[in-house]
Amino acid sequence: MRTLRTTLTWVAEGTELCRKAVADLDEASYSAPSLLPGWTRKHVVAHVAANARALRNLVHWARTGEPTPMYSSPEQRLADIESGAQLPAAWLTAWFEDTAQLLAYAMAELSEEQWRAPVVTAQGRTVPVSEVPWMRTRELMVHAVDLDTGVHFADLPEEFLAALRHDILGKRGSDTVPTVQGSDADITAYLAGRPYTGVTTGDGALAEPLTPWL
Ligand code: ZN
Repeated sequence: MRTLRTTLTWVAEGTELCRKAVADLDEASYSAPSLLPGWTRKHVVAHVAANARALRNLVHWARTGEPTPMYSSPEQRLADIESGAQLPAAWLTAWFEDTAQLLAYAMAELSEEQWRAPVVTAQGRTVPVSEVPWMRTRELMVHAVDLDTGVHFADLPEEFLAALRHDILGKRGSDTVPTVQGSDADITAYLAGRPYTGVTTGDGALAEPLTPWL
């Protein structure tokens, strides 16, 4: 249902959403809490920047055949988020922009054949590198909401929300998630373990929150 062409478009849209979300933040509001427990907005942006760098490693892997994992270790991944979150606002935004641009350049260089090359994600899944734009889209769109500067799930493209619900249900296992009613945007937020309203189970009761995802 999602194509490479679509996900590449979403990467550009998601980058723009995050760009706008941080554009007007001063030092204090950038350092304020995000919707993610324990993370400031700076942590979220540092994570999104480090994610672009990590995904570029996978693109490099696909283009050259040289195995380059996303992160050198889980500890290094967290350490980079922590140190990135200490950067001054302008530096952090510049890091976000640079990494986003470098990832876009790297993806633009892939040939049709290279897009099919297998790479291994941080979770240990082997996927064609054509999954990278989707992995990037998820991060950009969901974390744009997490930044808590006015982007909501209802603002995200409907087709993206449908693809995300499909993806999360597959990962969580559809038998572990109750069938729920609500708007598409709220059900997606619910499945992603994010704040939601008006999502009910079959008996009309409010659905219990799921654990955070991503
Ligand atoms: Zn993330």
